[in-house]
Amino acid sequence: MVAEMMDDMDETRVAIIGAGLGGLCLAQALTRAGIDCVVYERDAGLDSRAQGYRLRIDADGAGALAQCLAPPLYDLFRRTCAVPAPRSRFVDGQLAPMTGRAPEVWSTANEGTGDLCAHRQTLREILMRGIADKVRFGMAFQALEGTTGGRARVTFADGQVIHADLVVAADGVNSAVRRQLMPQADPLDVGAVCLYGRTILTPAVRAAVGDDLCGGTSVVFADGYAGIIDPMLFEGGAVSAGLTPVADYLYWALIGPRTRLLGPFGRAMPDEVAWRLADGWDPRLRALFRQADPRDMALLPVRSARLARTWPHWGSGPVTFLGDAIHAMSPAGGLGANVTLRDAAVLAASLSRIPSITAAAREYEAEMRTRAARAIHLSEVGAASLFADVF
Ligand SMILES: Cc1cc2nc3c(=O)[nH]c(=O)nc-3n(C[C@H](O)[C@H](O)[C@H](O)COP(=O)(O)OP(=O)(O)OC[C@H]3O[C@@H](n4cnc5c(N)ncnc54)[C@H](O)[C@@H]3O)c2cc1C
Repeated sequence: MVAEMMDDMDETRVAIIGAGLGGLCLAQALTRAGIDCVVYERDAGLDSRAQGYRLRIDADGAGALAQCLAPPLYDLFRRTCAVPAPRSRFVDGQLAPMTGRAPEVWSTANEGTGDLCAHRQTLREILMRGIADKVRFGMAFQALEGTTGGRARVTFADGQVIHADLVVAADGVNSAVRRQLMPQADPLDVGAVCLYGRTILTPAVRAAVGDDLCGGTSVVFADGYAGIIDPMLFEGGAVSAGLTPVADYLYWALIGPRTRLLGPFGRAMPDEVAWRLADGWDPRLRALFRQADPRDMALLPVRSARLARTWPHWGSGPVTFLGDAIHAMSPAGGLGANVTLRDAAVLAASLSRIPSITAAAREYEAEMRTRAARAIHLSEVGAASLFADVF
């Protein structure tokens, strides 16, 4: 009865499932193009759970943002990125320089190409600006009907129902839309894990970690795993623009095979794993992990999409996918968000230009598949060369 009463209440041309980077960026672009859209997000709010810290945005990702956002918002994005780090270095656990170990995708990404480092929460807040009335929080996708033609009918966990001409699944690596339409297409657990966190740069921490770690990107090669450390120093752009203030911090991530990172430690918590992995390292690196708040750490399995299994199983109807929902990839390449932002730009451009909404979705998918396959490959190559000692 409740569902029937709700039926037909909410209608939109484009229903976007997920208010992550991809979903919000798409909503910005569609709104600018005058295309009616609504974003449905499972979480209760933008900040209801920690979702990570530093995002390296390359020229492609920045170009996609420039295409999707109104110029003042794009300008705000650039102003709120961390102060560009002047140099990158490749070192061992004693902070001694290492040569010949840098994965190509990292070395080219890090050296003077103008990559930007965004704080993820700040970027999401910017992506919400001006479209807050189009984002419905607390709405977890449950089921989709009408995938073969005509309009789509979407049911949410609380019983609400909406209709849309096109459903865009932007619900991330564990996509519930993908699970329904392509249960065979879960991304592969590649056997690696990523442990990441941040260390807030209080004066005491600055003194303990030293100037070098704060002066640029450091890539640390250990025996069969690697770490990346990025200084995130801000100039207060977020505060002056009314965004949530962000303290300066060092972002860090350790990545490697599960057997190498977790094998010796059984069921240890992320903070213990980080401390033990850095046990014999230089005291400045040990201080970095010791001074991090365990609540700021997370441990994730690395998963990678198998496009051959996903394509073209969702058919020709009013549904399409973008971002991690369709092309999850190892974070070792630092490409996932960039590819996702480009998805949003390409899909919005197709929807603006082609009158048939399904034809526009199919055009976008053809381009996205090639681009995503390349990025997955580059991320795998990057990961393999990082763990070269054991893989
Ligand atoms: C440690 C780490 C570091 C990374 N660093 C980089 C980097 O430096 N550069 C880079 O390019 N990429 C990076 N990535 C990858 C990047 O984070 C992802 O590729 C990107 O977030 C994908 O965006 P998305 O919009 O597809 O998914 P997400 O950002 O994950 O958003 C999905 C949204 O969908 C919502 N959702 C989920 N289920 C439902 C449901 N049933 N109903 C409604 N809503 C739902 C979620 O709550 C979420 O808000 C990194 C990833 C990790 C793990």
